[in-house]
Amino acid sequence: MKVLVTGGAGFIGSNYVRSLLGGAYVGYEDVHVTVVDKLTYAGNTANLPMDHPRLSFVKADICDAATLYDVVRGHDAVVHLAAESHVDRSLLSAGEFVISNVLGTQAVLECSLRAGVERVVHVSTDEVYGSIGEGSWTEKQRLQPNSPYAAAKAGADLLAWSYYQSHRLPVCVTRCSNNYGPHQFIEKIIPLFVTNLLDGRPVPLYGDGLHVREWLHVDDHCRGLQLVLERGRPGEIYHLGGGTELTNLDLVRQLLTLCGADWDRVQFVDDRKGHDRRYSLDGEKARHELGYEARVPFDRGLADVVDWYRDNRWWWAPLRETAEFFKYGLPRGW
Ligand code: NAD
Repeated sequence: MKVLVTGGAGFIGSNYVRSLLGGAYVGYEDVHVTVVDKLTYAGNTANLPMDHPRLSFVKADICDAATLYDVVRGHDAVVHLAAESHVDRSLLSAGEFVISNVLGTQAVLECSLRAGVERVVHVSTDEVYGSIGEGSWTEKQRLQPNSPYAAAKAGADLLAWSYYQSHRLPVCVTRCSNNYGPHQFIEKIIPLFVTNLLDGRPVPLYGDGLHVREWLHVDDHCRGLQLVLERGRPGEIYHLGGGTELTNLDLVRQLLTLCGADWDRVQFVDDRKGHDRRYSLDGEKARHELGYEARVPFDRGLADVVDWYRDNRWWWAPLRETAEFFKYGLPRGW
């Protein structure tokens, strides 16, 4: 079995690769994994067991279809995670998001089709639906993305659908909620806040802090991706939710406690442009068809993540330079 993971040097992709190679999934103990990754600011080979005998790493841009095709050939499955992933950056520089997330996905789909790949999993996001006041979205919800990031992901999802409809490419789309876990780049809210708090710095909280997010531990997400890879029906969309809804204020309250800091460290900053108020996924389809259920209790998962950043300063301290720009929300004047 040969699995190609695009974006495998990033946060979720590398967790998935480490789980695959670590024997977490029954029947995949001998799997050979190839990672293709451009190594943008968010990609980091330190996230991967580079010397592992069943891991191959290819530094390449998924938009380079000729190179990608050579890489894809011979693989049984493709799990596609490569993307520009940070909403704030998409407000500053949307073009890169369209290139990597839309054109890049088209290249992944086309190369998979031509190479006869038996199974493709395209990893998407709940953000494609926009914002929801009450209740939860099912997979039938219409797309109404509010940020350039979400719009580019929605475009990619539609391309995946089109490759299934037109060519019967056996592709599934997953839409997950906000992930948290180790190895997450320090511009995202949890690692940004934890590393700032551990360093005695202030933390920037957008608007009134009442935005609601549903938190999903990355290990649960990766297990869900594996279930979709093994049992998902081609052409279908599956929600992979975490089940823990929290306002950002509640999240920050827990982080302050875990890091031993007080509210005086929290600085309320202008809200993000077009900031979605609430996301919420209905997970019934994945529960019913795949037996997927999030398992990691949020309290324990969050405490483990804080411990991981506390114990792995070597990993994140050098990244601070790149992330500095984003620490207090969008730069003024944009
Ligand atoms: P990340 O930013 O940590 O990693 C993305 C990886 O993709 C990086 O290693 C980067 O180098 C690589 N990459 C980017 N553009 C590339 C290109 N053109 N060619 C090759 N490699 C490229 O992102 P993540 O948080 O691990 O997210 C992975 C996927 O999951 C993304 O598709 C994202 O949209 C989706 N997702 C993430 C979350 C979350 O909470 N993190 C939630 C929903 C969906």
